[in-house]
Amino acid sequence: MVEARGVRKHYGQLEVLKGIDLEVRNGEVLCLVGPSGSGKSTFLRCINHLERLDGGTLRVNGHLVGFREHEGRLYELREKEVAAQRLDIGMVFQRFNLFPHMTALQNVMEAPVQVHREKPAAARERAMSLLERVGLADKSGAYPAMLSGGQQQRVAIARALAMRPRLMLFDEPTSALDPELVGEVLDVMRGLAADGMTMVVVTHEMGFAREVADTVVFMDGGVVVESGPPADVLGNPQHARTRSFLGKVL
Ligand code: ATP
Ligand code: MG
Repeated sequence: MVEARGVRKHYGQLEVLKGIDLEVRNGEVLCLVGPSGSGKSTFLRCINHLERLDGGTLRVNGHLVGFREHEGRLYELREKEVAAQRLDIGMVFQRFNLFPHMTALQNVMEAPVQVHREKPAAARERAMSLLERVGLADKSGAYPAMLSGGQQQRVAIARALAMRPRLMLFDEPTSALDPELVGEVLDVMRGLAADGMTMVVVTHEMGFAREVADTVVFMDGGVVVESGPPADVLGNPQHARTRSFLGKVL
């Protein structure tokens, strides 16, 4: 589903990604862990071309992200084509960034109606079932300001799911939450994983990674230091840098 080969990215002189290789298969959950500044968010943003690669290739569903290949050369896609590619990918950030002037239900319905031109009645019905899925059927009429952080984040997940993505990207979805609200969001993500959604999750929640991830990737300084099943990477790390990081977060 996701295939990264030698992905490079720099900001000016700062090399942030120094050749990332990794793969996520259909229905798999990959958890990306590593210290602050190691390039996790940048890599995630490359997957939906919010950042343009400086080297290497990324494929989602077999399609090059942001580029077209023709006779061995790469040509950059136009903004419209990039936007079309992004429709297959749902993204949930640390900050919930719901539309503040819309209810939970309107937030979830908005893109299907505006972008996919779904009929409002059908979109509404589906939005309700998605709110139910994230445990918020009774909050459909609430505005974001009336919801807790955990509830807002669950609406944000429902909103991403409304576009029927084939891949979900999560960038530290629980790190802005009060500790007692983390569990309800992780539960929703656990449910998604169990339903077979392909997911790439940047997280510091090692318990979640251990339990849900098929693969854990430890990144440091813009490179993949170590990757494999959670029992290996988290339970029996081979590299000193991984051990030192885990010593701090576990
Ligand atoms: P954190 O755990 O703190 O979220 P991260 O692993 O997600 O860290 P990134 O946000 O990918 O790290 O940032 C990697 C490096 O790139 C950092 O040194 C950061 O300052 C730098 N960086 C990120 N975005 C930009 C930008 N738009 N312009 C310049 N530098 C940037
Ligand atoms: Mg980050």
